Amino acid sequence: MANMNLHPYVKKQAEKLMENANKRLTGDWKMMITQGLRTMEEQAAIYGQGRSSYIYNGKQYGKPKMNIVSGAKPGQSMHNWGLAIDFALKNTKTGAVSWSMTMDSDKDRKADWKEVVEEAKKLGFEWGGDWKNFFDGPHFEINFGLDWRDLQAGKKPPTLAEIEGGKAKPAPSSSSTVLEKGSRGEDVKELQTYLNYLGFDCGKVDGIFGADTEKAVKEFQKAQKLTVDGYAGKNTLSSLSRAYAAKKLKNLYSRPLKLDKQYMKGEDVKVVQQKLGITADGIYGPKSEKAVKDFQGANKLGIDGVVGPKTWAKLF
Ligand SMILES: [Zn+2]
Repeated sequence: MANMNLHPYVKKQAEKLMENANKRLTGDWKMMITQGLRTMEEQAAIYGQGRSSYIYNGKQYGKPKMNIVSGAKPGQSMHNWGLAIDFALKNTKTGAVSWSMTMDSDKDRKADWKEVVEEAKKLGFEWGGDWKNFFDGPHFEINFGLDWRDLQAGKKPPTLAEIEGGKAKPAPSSSSTVLEKGSRGEDVKELQTYLNYLGFDCGKVDGIFGADTEKAVKEFQKAQKLTVDGYAGKNTLSSLSRAYAAKKLKNLYSRPLKLDKQYMKGEDVKVVQQKLGITADGIYGPKSEKAVKDFQGANKLGIDGVVGPKTWAKLF
């Protein structure tokens, strides 16, 4: 296996998986890994597909003529952190590659795909095919209970030495959390706070997932074009926190940002820089002005390097 810059523990488990799965698959089709680490730039290119404009680190990745294939921006996929692999089946004789989930080439009455998944789970991988709202059949990850927000905030997965020394466990993922009618606790409080803030009324924030909360979840899912089932699983929870963060950002605008003799500073500058993919130091200097001008050019706004209400609205 090529060095894919996976987390050393994930790499080790992936190698074991290849070995175990391919012992079990006795037909012509074997497991192959199609993707390990995906760089931020590769993710930007994937995210840009089907979008009129997407700027990352000052570079345009928008490819409007293609279809949208991913909702994950750079940093939002576990592949960007070396914690995920994608697989497929490869015919050892012809070299053909297959994503069939039903093929049973070794005739043991269990689909080859399913056999790989079983072996992966034994090794502690989470399978993307188990995700309630976003089925990702070729995807395995070991996320140590972290999601991309944790990773972007600087949280680090345990090292291989810590795991092997028994100091850390490759914890089960947090992404299996599903809040539903009857759920209680802090997670539900947070859910209710977000929904109310976004105008989906679930009444008092009491930490109890009742009929009003369920109704609000369904309305939110409908508005976001998600499966309307009233379950707040991985997809609903992540769109909810995205929508919440987006609205907070929209409401953060309070002054035009521009290049002054005395550089402007603040949280508003920082979020603009983050959005534009440049160093987010919270100081509006010449680099910020240039990135804003590029953004304005790409979005057919007046190019003045000033983040006024229109540019702000386009950004967030
Ligand atoms: Zn994947």
